[in-house]
Amino acid sequence: MNEKRDYYQVLGVSRNAGDEEIKKAYRKLALQFHPDRNPGDKEAEEKFKEAAEAYEVLRDPQKRRLYDQYGHEGLQGAGFSGFQGFEDIFSSFGDIFQEFFSFNLGGSQRPRSASRPGSDLLYDLHLTFEEAVFGTEKELEVEVLQTCERCDGLGSEPGTEESVCPLCRGRGQVIQSQGFFRISTTCSRCRGSGRVITSPCRTCGGQGRVRRMKRVHVKVPPGVDTGTRLRLRGEGESGFRGGVAGDLYVRLHVEPHEAFERDGNDLYTKVSVSFVQAILGDDILLSTVDGTKKKITIEPGTQPGTVIRFAGEGVPSLRGYGRGDLFVEVEVTVPADVTDRQRELLLEFMAIEEEKSNRRMRRWPWSKGRGKKPGAAVGEAAR
Ligand SMILES: [Zn+2]
Ligand SMILES: [Zn+2]
Repeated sequence: MNEKRDYYQVLGVSRNAGDEEIKKAYRKLALQFHPDRNPGDKEAEEKFKEAAEAYEVLRDPQKRRLYDQYGHEGLQGAGFSGFQGFEDIFSSFGDIFQEFFSFNLGGSQRPRSASRPGSDLLYDLHLTFEEAVFGTEKELEVEVLQTCERCDGLGSEPGTEESVCPLCRGRGQVIQSQGFFRISTTCSRCRGSGRVITSPCRTCGGQGRVRRMKRVHVKVPPGVDTGTRLRLRGEGESGFRGGVAGDLYVRLHVEPHEAFERDGNDLYTKVSVSFVQAILGDDILLSTVDGTKKKITIEPGTQPGTVIRFAGEGVPSLRGYGRGDLFVEVEVTVPADVTDRQRELLLEFMAIEEEKSNRRMRRWPWSKGRGKKPGAAVGEAAR
């Protein structure tokens, strides 16, 4: 094309058209003459380029003023020479095409900030049984990526500037042909920021963050158990270039106790009493989880395996109200050896027991045998 047409004519708008009108007019033409829709059509190609050039000038107040005053020559004098080819057009108007086709594969359309959130971290914390039941406070040493102080997290050596990304020319997006459409995707070189670091910070090598040990204070509430995860907001890795910090998750592992077992908020333990204590009854002392002694009354005639329940003396609920129960199982021990005197007394004891059961048998003449059957228990209940 030797003679350049008037830009307003090209777009079909009046000389005092507003920005929106100009954009709309260009959009219509760009769609109509888009090379993907007119493959091999030289005329459409020229019209497409012409519209792009007109739009490039009229959307820019400075260029538009130049053009209004001095025409095409004015622009040439200012160094504007239109577009070389399609790639030029697409990389200038990538965002517009994206908008036209509602195509968005590469995230935001304008160069976006290179900030990224920091990662969450997971820390495994081991607690004693008692710490889990009553709660505790701990200091953790966590290795995290923290914002580099030398470059303030920017990644550039102090005193140096970033430069425009050579791959996307600062747009943060690159245009790729994908079948019918051209799609703009986030630039891989600058990750969409449009800028690249020219002299990386000497401390962090341009990463903006450095690996460092950090002390974190953690308050473990009463009632936690193995598998409980505590979330410490913002205590994970620092964000990249001003991005939000990640969270620190503390995963709890509770060590077993030698005397207590736990099921939810209930506690289970055992006490041993001698067979004499079980028969006669007694008060005994139980060592509780918190280390204090608790008095427990063994009733006369307590059977082995009897479970005594203490309501509300278990583990505090993690939800903040109520406690589980404490269950104490009574074990009855039998002496492995006895003295002669004890033996004497026990034989006497046995004789009395036999007498007792014989007496019962006589009262229930239809019972056979000598109290081996549950008949004896029936006699007991009926007495
Ligand atoms: Zn640095
Ligand atoms: Zn780039």
